Amino acid sequence: MLTKKQMENFAELAVLVGANMQPKQEVVIRCDVQCADFAHLIAEKAYKFGAKRVHIEWLDEVLDRIEVQRASKRTLSKVPEYKTAQYKYFIKHKVCLIAISAENPNKFKGCKADKIEARQLAILKSRKDFRNATMSNYLRWTIISIPTKAWASQVFPDVSPEEAVDKMWDAIAHIMRLDTVEPTAAWQGHIATLHRRADFLNKHNFEYVHMRNARGTDLKVGLATDHQWIAAEEEGQDGIPFTANMPTEEVFTAPHNRKINGKVVNALPLVNNGNVIDNFSITFKDGKVVDYKAEVGYEALKAILSSDEGVLSLGEIALIGRNSPIAESGILFYNTLFDENASCHLAFGASYPTTTKDGNSLTLEQLAERGMNQSIQHVDFMVGTKDMDIDGITYDGKVVPLFRNGEWVI
Ligand code: ZN
Ligand code: ZN
Repeated sequence: MLTKKQMENFAELAVLVGANMQPKQEVVIRCDVQCADFAHLIAEKAYKFGAKRVHIEWLDEVLDRIEVQRASKRTLSKVPEYKTAQYKYFIKHKVCLIAISAENPNKFKGCKADKIEARQLAILKSRKDFRNATMSNYLRWTIISIPTKAWASQVFPDVSPEEAVDKMWDAIAHIMRLDTVEPTAAWQGHIATLHRRADFLNKHNFEYVHMRNARGTDLKVGLATDHQWIAAEEEGQDGIPFTANMPTEEVFTAPHNRKINGKVVNALPLVNNGNVIDNFSITFKDGKVVDYKAEVGYEALKAILSSDEGVLSLGEIALIGRNSPIAESGILFYNTLFDENASCHLAFGASYPTTTKDGNSLTLEQLAERGMNQSIQHVDFMVGTKDMDIDGITYDGKVVPLFRNGEWVI
């Protein structure tokens, strides 16, 4: 369990390092009703550091489940206008977003896949402009996590829900560097290491990244023209830095959506929309998925890959060493924020415009020309294993080792 002081440090990290809220700014906290206490602490800190107004966009995963069980598919396919209107307000008033991700990975267990998918697509569409505003760094944003009983019980099924929450807090304290004397300073040091690696990768301007391991992954991921590797701290369009994911261990960029070839096998389960997909492999040719298999959750994988045309290619490649505190914890969180920071990953769907030079000032056509993938989806899946080797290959064919046995060698 965290001390009161550690809890306060955590809330301050979210406001100051994560979203890097500026005085007189409006803040949106997006969180489940189960996380109300911590959301209130963040609100308290935001006002302390000069927020003009704090909004809370309440989520309610218990209601979500009731809705999927009881409402018609037609109802689920539409999002009420007042919800869409609030996103317009958020963009207009240039809020910063602090999202608390604490979803029960099994919240839709046993529910009908087509209803879950219809609901999810409707939500994605209603949030589209707001999501574009965050993905393009027009708005600064951050995602953090805290345990809930429902979620912690999935992660630690052998102990009581209360104990599970305690155990998860302990893990999060370490992963978030809240157990150090000066968490903010610890974060600054960590961010500097990640930036050094991103600089190395950018200097080489690799044409391909080649990943392989004993599970059967042998994948050549071409990188978008004028791609940029990004890590930890990014810059908002207004020039103010922020840290989108806390924790973050990744150095990532955009694949070229016509230059991906080979096969990739997942390393950790993919939890999406309350479904678990596992033991799956994907085969790519010239940037497109041409074949896929899954021993667990095939229908859910199929649903993801049917969302639109762009979801059949990749929008992100991210590199994470096996010695990151999350990977070392050995805990499977069933939550992307943690699990994607435990393992090298790829994402089906949209790329981040910021991962190509001046990406935010390019048209969709110009982005497409560079191989930047577009989709309404962005679904991360974990592929990094302890035996993974990764090389960078330059345009003139030079091979530079980046990972050996799952860890950085640069
Ligand atoms: Zn990522
Ligand atoms: Zn991602």
